[in-house]
Amino acid sequence: MLSGEVPRWLGARLGSLAADLALVVGDAHVLTDREVAAGYAVDWTGRYGAKRALVVRPATTAETSAVVDLAASYGVPIVTQGGNTGLVGGSVPNRHDSLIVSTRRLGTISDVDLRAGLVTVGAGVTVTGLTEHLKGSGWRFAVDLGSRDSATLGGMTATNAGGMRVFRFGTMRRQIVGLEYVAADGTVASHLRSLIKDNTGYHLAGLLCGSEGTLGLITALRLRLIRERTHRLAALCAFDDLDEAVEFAWQLRATAPSVEVIEYLDAACADLVHMTQRVPLPVRGQALILVEAAADTDPLDEVAGAIGRIQPSPTDVAFALGEHRRAALWRLRDEVSLALSRLGAVHKFDISIPAGTLSHVRRRLEAGLHALAPQATAWWFGHVCDDNVHLNVTGPDLETHRVEELVVQVVLDAAGSISAEHGIGVMKAPFLHHARSAGELAHMRAIKEALDPQGILNPGVIFAER
Ligand SMILES: Cc1cc2nc3c(=O)[nH]c(=O)nc-3n(C[C@H](O)[C@H](O)[C@H](O)COP(=O)(O)OP(=O)(O)OC[C@H]3O[C@@H](n4cnc5c(N)ncnc54)[C@H](O)[C@@H]3O)c2cc1C
Repeated sequence: MLSGEVPRWLGARLGSLAADLALVVGDAHVLTDREVAAGYAVDWTGRYGAKRALVVRPATTAETSAVVDLAASYGVPIVTQGGNTGLVGGSVPNRHDSLIVSTRRLGTISDVDLRAGLVTVGAGVTVTGLTEHLKGSGWRFAVDLGSRDSATLGGMTATNAGGMRVFRFGTMRRQIVGLEYVAADGTVASHLRSLIKDNTGYHLAGLLCGSEGTLGLITALRLRLIRERTHRLAALCAFDDLDEAVEFAWQLRATAPSVEVIEYLDAACADLVHMTQRVPLPVRGQALILVEAAADTDPLDEVAGAIGRIQPSPTDVAFALGEHRRAALWRLRDEVSLALSRLGAVHKFDISIPAGTLSHVRRRLEAGLHALAPQATAWWFGHVCDDNVHLNVTGPDLETHRVEELVVQVVLDAAGSISAEHGIGVMKAPFLHHARSAGELAHMRAIKEALDPQGILNPGVIFAER
């Protein structure tokens, strides 16, 4: 039993569940303090969430299994939450009777297999936590994103996160060698072996990757690592024209093998971070390209040589060789979302479009936005060599769904995707039928119903509630 009284704000059903959960994880890890629990119930954007939720924090796979079993017996919906950095409203409840299962205490990390470059992690380990663990091992983890201090490897798997290095190393899916999850009835399904080849039936890890908490709770992962490099540099290249910046980015990717990050920022984003976050802006242009290269010998000659040869060439370039200067350039890119969030309501989009269409799509979207809401401002940045941009719109209030409808329409007209890497969540669930065929949707629903017949795992995520 929870020592002391179960708070009345939980209501009878969640209150009784809370008492049972405390027997599994201990009083301290069933969060019944309304203020504390509220911190888990609203997402990073502040746009999605519920006024109340019960939060439980299991520390092991066995505890997670028992928690799910209990929630299922009460018929209480489960929202799995990692770092709560998701941007599509999937990590928080959209109603008041839910249980949030926080994975942050699933934090174990195994010894690194130094020969094969493999490690096993609990789902609650963050990118930064894993990076610290790998220091000095000669290995590193390939997926990197601005939310690295909070985003968990379980959440990143559940969203098939992309980030800054996808064009070289792939998304989360490519890093996963094995996976363990707890199904909706509490069953543990574990496959964490290290075999390079293993075609034994369905690839359940691939299915869980990108499932956004709707098919099971990921508890552990066997991850592939990449070699750490001893030398690193960053550069910021300025252009007066977006098409020239994009062409440059693709040529750089093709001609400089040590380059592993090529990120795009438009002038407005760079100026915003410069002014509001007080980050130095060493070069200026309508479009900026942030480059990072890594190698076992100094990559400066290779990168500077490639930049010098490529046509169209940048109007200005700033190189950052030391760690501090590199970190300062990185802040320009990493802090865009934070700076935008301080402007008030932000409509966030994560679109991918066919190669060579960015300028065209941008013109169409900005014209449409202007007609819809003259006060709207569009902010553009993202993973240019994945043809993936993060369009953020400020100005119109968040009730204005016409902004979403416009973006979806323009992206689909351009044969693009409404979710490059953030997932569907609840935000894009109403639009999923525009993005996938009737046959695909029927198969997706069949999988969901087979693995979660009660529909208790993240209801409303991916599939809009009927
Ligand atoms: C500043 C900033 C920068 C970002 N940059 C990028 C970027 O470059 N690329 C990118 O892809 N994303 C980016 N994101 C989005 C976000 O960080 C990713 O979606 C990340 O993968 C979410 O991880 P999380 O642990 O925070 O998951 P959460 O936000 O907690 O959850 C996300 C989804 O996964 C589910 N989930 C979480 N953990 C589990 C689990 N263990 N088992 C099953 N389901 C689970 C949740 O139910 C939810 O549906 C960024 C976000 C911010 C705030």
